Amino acid sequence: MTYDVAIIGGGPGGYSAAVRAGQYGLKTAIIERQPRLGGTCLLVGCIPTKALLHTADVWDYFKDPGSQGIECQNPQLNYSKVLDRKNKIVTKHSKGVEFLMRKNKVEVIKGNARLLSGGRIEVEGAPGKQTVEAKNIILATGSEARMLPGLQPDNELILTNIEILDMPSIPKSIGIIGAGAVGVEFASIFNRFGSKVTILEMLPRVVPVEDEEISKELEKHFKKAGIRVETGARVENVRKNAKSVSLSATLTNGNKEEMEFDKLLVAVGRKPNTEAIGLENTRAQQDRGFVKVDAYQRTSEPGLYAIGDIVAGTPQLAHVATAEGMVAVGHIAGKQIRPINRNRIPGATYTDPGIGSVGLTEAQARAQGFDVKAGKFPFSANSKATILDKHEGFVKVVADATFGEILGVHIIGPEAFELISEAVTAMEAEATVESMMSTIHAHPTVYEAIGEAFNNVYGLAINI
Ligand SMILES: Cc1cc2nc3c(=O)[nH]c(=O)nc-3n(C[C@H](O)[C@H](O)[C@H](O)COP(=O)(O)OP(=O)(O)OC[C@H]3O[C@@H](n4cnc5c(N)ncnc54)[C@H](O)[C@@H]3O)c2cc1C
Repeated sequence: MTYDVAIIGGGPGGYSAAVRAGQYGLKTAIIERQPRLGGTCLLVGCIPTKALLHTADVWDYFKDPGSQGIECQNPQLNYSKVLDRKNKIVTKHSKGVEFLMRKNKVEVIKGNARLLSGGRIEVEGAPGKQTVEAKNIILATGSEARMLPGLQPDNELILTNIEILDMPSIPKSIGIIGAGAVGVEFASIFNRFGSKVTILEMLPRVVPVEDEEISKELEKHFKKAGIRVETGARVENVRKNAKSVSLSATLTNGNKEEMEFDKLLVAVGRKPNTEAIGLENTRAQQDRGFVKVDAYQRTSEPGLYAIGDIVAGTPQLAHVATAEGMVAVGHIAGKQIRPINRNRIPGATYTDPGIGSVGLTEAQARAQGFDVKAGKFPFSANSKATILDKHEGFVKVVADATFGEILGVHIIGPEAFELISEAVTAMEAEATVESMMSTIHAHPTVYEAIGEAFNNVYGLAINI
């Protein structure tokens, strides 16, 4: 049988593309090498981490229930139950993805896929090798944790996002190499579960893709929460001991320090899964392992598309993978489709305080020659934030002074990852600072802080 579309990879990019292809009536197959569908995001990324972060949020309230007037004797964190809950959430949603495949008449083929020439894919699975033929192929093979040279994850001491999610107990200490989204989220989880957390980041700031003020604010709150943050630090000579890991770190002041941790998490970025998928049998071009695509996610090989974490030039985020899948399938089905606008992709980092951002940072806007006007509003002046006991952070609007164009919005604070949706919608609808200033925000809400920040582009916030 020849499929209209065969998709390699059952993560958020691949499975969403499969659903959409089914909705368009295309004969569709999805090939996945793991026993379960859902990819990095559902099985070992977005969903299990956020399940743990939610428990960490709830646990925070139990640390001082008296401050809310609640008497609660000796609350305990039962970590094996915390893990059970996380696993149940993952299983529920992985089954949900299987259901979606059946509902949309997508054939699921289990096995490891490799591109051959001429629209053919070799799949090696339990029944042996088979060849799948398709008029169009979408590559959605995702990414895996990059390791430092000479290091391998081992389930015991040196961990990636996969092993750390199934540690049977909370370690006394964790070293985390890398302060990107993955590193800081695990830091926020295990700090609040009681581990002594040390972050070692080579660059001069944490969450380096965010606006500089956001990085400063997160570092400030992490330090206040007891997380040791060493930016500008170079890690060398990682050694495994019987029950711990040691390393040498050259700190930003030039001092060399020996450190020892119960566990070491390596969170230094994600490597695209493009090495063994047969790209050499195609004309698809690559950039340092990432696949180059045009605005419709087409590679240079006719009929071959790429989406998600393997794509060159777009951030490695689940919603980007999904959105790219919609573009690829829409193009295959001959629909009117709008390519991704790379400047309107929200970023969300689920730390405490959380981060949500979209568009240009202030430094990027200045570097691009805009006449920047920024407006800020702190959550310390927001009454709902006081009610929630979540005073940290601020909303920052980066705008162009000439026409009031919104260039970027950067939020750190309570539910920042939810609040950013208003800014994304505003930018997508090409709202201006003026139209956002007169947009009515319900009271008391944390998102009032967004309205105030827009007003403060012109120094007109009410509550500060
Ligand atoms: C700890 C962590 C937390 C994260 N949190 C968030 C978050 O909160 N929000 C967010 O937006 N993003 C988050 N991400 C990023 C997100 O997980 C990825 O951007 C997303 O999963 C990418 O989707 P994808 O479909 O491109 O690839 P993946 O989800 O990686 O899926 C690729 C699939 O392809 C399969 N595959 C690979 N090669 C083959 C082959 N040859 N044959 C058959 N199957 C193959 C893999 O088994 C996998 O199932 C997080 C990542 C990590 C590691």
